[in-house]
Amino acid sequence: MQWKVLGLVAVALSISGATAMADESNLRIAIHGGAGTILRENLTPELEQAYRAKLEEALRAGYTVLTSGGTAVEAVQEAIVTMEDSPLFNAGKGAVFTHHKTNEMDASIMEGATLNAGAAAGVSTVRNPIRLAAAVMTQSSHVMLSGKGAEQFAASVGLQIVDPAYFWTERRWQQLLEVQKNDPQASVLSEHESDRAAVVPGGTRWPDDNKFGTVGAVALDKHGNLAAGTSTGGMTNKKYGRIGDSPVIGAGTYADNSAGAISATGHGEFFIRAAVAHDICARTLYRGVSLQKAADEVIMDKLVKMGGEGGIVGLDPAGNVVFSFNSTGMYRGFIDSTGKAHTAIFR
Ligand code: ASP
Repeated sequence: MQWKVLGLVAVALSISGATAMADESNLRIAIHGGAGTILRENLTPELEQAYRAKLEEALRAGYTVLTSGGTAVEAVQEAIVTMEDSPLFNAGKGAVFTHHKTNEMDASIMEGATLNAGAAAGVSTVRNPIRLAAAVMTQSSHVMLSGKGAEQFAASVGLQIVDPAYFWTERRWQQLLEVQKNDPQASVLSEHESDRAAVVPGGTRWPDDNKFGTVGAVALDKHGNLAAGTSTGGMTNKKYGRIGDSPVIGAGTYADNSAGAISATGHGEFFIRAAVAHDICARTLYRGVSLQKAADEVIMDKLVKMGGEGGIVGLDPAGNVVFSFNSTGMYRGFIDSTGKAHTAIFR
């Protein structure tokens, strides 16, 4: 009898589990497509429209995962893959060029429930570096892999490998030539002193985002779990195997269910030194301030005093979306509790 009752309860539970739809009002995803000197006068209406459409597509890709019961980690990946596959952003196809005319990409991902994390740095043949970061997290005993070893690992787990030429785009090529023409010895740091709009032959006038343009996403799933991810080509004209903050857990990416999820974009050297993503989460944990306040303290005060330009997108455990950036613009968007997508670019 007792077993019968238990059995009935179990059946009832599994039926309610199977039929229960995720409460969509609790699902959340927010993204960025890079921060920098992005001025309205440097962006044509057509280009602005293209950016907004791609941001919305990325949001929808991630949100669909969440509404079909997928995890925050999966949602973050799908949103980022959409932007990696678009030449509009400095990640995957459209990544900036290094000083040596190669494309070397970095990415990381973190799961807020477990504090598991994965990252890859300096890869040139993996079509979607965010998938590699996720594979490092779930299919290796390591947190960060780099260069050739990371590429071998990617192939061994069946990720799509492409010819490095896949990442070539005219726009990024011209940006590199422009930076090198002005200063053939330009270092990563001195390049940051310049503020120009890039003009690609053929007439398209691009915003001056040759410095940044990284992509990132944060998500909250039906289990109340947070995740954050970031993917980038790094900075134009970078040298010597330079690696920025994007693949560094605690700098470019951090997620902890008890504090929040953060993905950053900006001048990586500063973001590493300021431990931006972790510092924001730590401030909310230790001082009890909101994630927005913690983010503003770090981005608008601490980083500004250090001279670091950039911003973050974040989500707190209750699903409140946080944006903070000290640059003139940041490509960004989120989906609200009614499922509506919002995108923005300028301050
Ligand atoms: N944070 C990236 C880096 O320093 C650049 C960016 O955000 O666009 O590599």
